[in-house]
Amino acid sequence: MAVFGTVFMPQMTMITFENEKWSDAQVVSSQSINLHPGAHVLHYSSTCFEGLKAFRHSDGSIYTFRMDQNIARFAQSSQLLSLPNVDKQQISDMILNIVGQYANDVPEPPGSMYIRPTHIGIEASIGKAAAPSLSSMLYVLLSPVGDYFAGGAKPLRLLLDEDGMRCAPHMGMVKSGGNYASALPPIMKAQKEVQADQILFCPNGDVQETGAANFLLIDGNEIITKALDSSFLHGVTRNSILTLAKDLGMQVSERSLTVKELLERASKPGTEAALSGTAAVLTPVGTFVHKDTEYTVGSGAAGPTTMKLRQALNDIQWGKAPDTHGWLVKVK
Ligand SMILES: *Cc1c(COP(=O)(O)O)cnc(C)c1O
Repeated sequence: MAVFGTVFMPQMTMITFENEKWSDAQVVSSQSINLHPGAHVLHYSSTCFEGLKAFRHSDGSIYTFRMDQNIARFAQSSQLLSLPNVDKQQISDMILNIVGQYANDVPEPPGSMYIRPTHIGIEASIGKAAAPSLSSMLYVLLSPVGDYFAGGAKPLRLLLDEDGMRCAPHMGMVKSGGNYASALPPIMKAQKEVQADQILFCPNGDVQETGAANFLLIDGNEIITKALDSSFLHGVTRNSILTLAKDLGMQVSERSLTVKELLERASKPGTEAALSGTAAVLTPVGTFVHKDTEYTVGSGAAGPTTMKLRQALNDIQWGKAPDTHGWLVKVK
């Protein structure tokens, strides 16, 4: 299977915002877009995106998962970047239409169709460093993906970073390109110097998230994760896992967690840690690296509660368990 996110469906659906209004959706080639070299997005990073998935059930029907949550976050990101306001119903129609067009290409579980709505400022004006783009382009790109775990669910190794931060604190909840670019130098350094898979950003000792996934600590019957604020991305997977944990009778604690408490709890038997996100679902964490010391999380292997919650989420997505929260929308 190809590397995650490198295969695209030949067509995508696109709209543009010009003269104060959105165009009708058009299905166009996903090979290229027409962009002026002075486009606002290329200079001042007026860009945001979403990531959600559509799943194939055993009867051949296709469903999106929590699409309303992703569209709401997309609308919020657009607003916080002073991009034109989006029409949520229009985006929902676009997603259902383009996924419907490629229904036959949605892979069987554990694969899925990854859906990437993208919104960019396209006004050709390099003088607008301190002004919004008045025109924009919004497209929905599709990428069939396989099992993120194809190489086995090897627990991740995370560097705890208390000095830097992933992005500016007021930008954390915006799913915007510049945030990822700004986190790259420390992530590449951590990969090179301590062979970390990811950095767990913990500015001033406050455990936050990694470059593209939320962090959950599991201690027996309790799940602990940072309470929502503007400094980090409000994951739909995070919310789904917490909801399923409550359904299973677990105690969910959304609160601040310090590096000190994390390391004290880490090595106790029964402790588990995991990253949550649409691409990786729920990925076990096996090791923390902190100031040249290594801490094994629990037994160091994928924890049973992590795998149980991951399975519970997949079962709903794959139509093997009842969708009691109304998270699925039928495409076809
Ligand atoms: C997308 C993303 C997540 C996970 O969000 P989901 O909605 O669960 O996919 C977490 N952190 C960052 C920085 C992200 O970009």
